[in-house]
Amino acid sequence: MKIDNTIEEFESLGDNHIGTSANTPLRDDAFKLSNDEKIELIKEDVHHIMETLGLDLNDDSLKGTPNRVAKMFVKEIFEGLNPNKKPKASTFKNKYKYGEMLVEKNITLYSTCEHHLLPIVGKAHVAYISNGTVVGLSKMNRIVDYFAKRPQVQERLTIQIVKELQDVLNTNDVACIIDAKHLCVNSRGIRDIESSTVTSEFGGKFKEKETRREFLDYIKLDTTF
Ligand SMILES: [Zn+2]
Repeated sequence: MKIDNTIEEFESLGDNHIGTSANTPLRDDAFKLSNDEKIELIKEDVHHIMETLGLDLNDDSLKGTPNRVAKMFVKEIFEGLNPNKKPKASTFKNKYKYGEMLVEKNITLYSTCEHHLLPIVGKAHVAYISNGTVVGLSKMNRIVDYFAKRPQVQERLTIQIVKELQDVLNTNDVACIIDAKHLCVNSRGIRDIESSTVTSEFGGKFKEKETRREFLDYIKLDTTF
């Protein structure tokens, strides 16, 4: 049966934040245009939106907004769409033979909801058990940041972080938990400022109850210095 997606269906899909795939839906020609070409086009688009809203683009305060937003989209908040920006996969041999879990917690996360283009702000907690390969600690922060800099749904972001670390570390024993506020929920729509969304992805040994519990216990540790 052919399904016709009406505007209402698309809208309710967005408000329910249902994602469709673990991969970011990018077109094949996503990088045919240079960054500068994209900025020029987006600048015109933002100008058009503001003009349609009835804003006076000659006003000193508004004049620079289209250019500012276009640059921010391409070079900052959506920079992670470009595979060239993926953090380099430099790994090391696990010389200390440290065989326990390593947790990088409270990684600051800024992303953007792909259904409303409003911010997602939260914390990511990432863990792995080395099978002989380790990565620098900041690499975990960088991987989180890279995938966060895309239009996202939180579930997909969580999965993408785990998959990437599984690839880099050559093990399935990777886990990620994200606890984040979505401004599309907090500041509009249902306008619930208190609620946050928790997603998790547990690979390999982290599917086992005890390992999972250990990870959760580390996250709960109150680290104040
Ligand atoms: Zn949203």
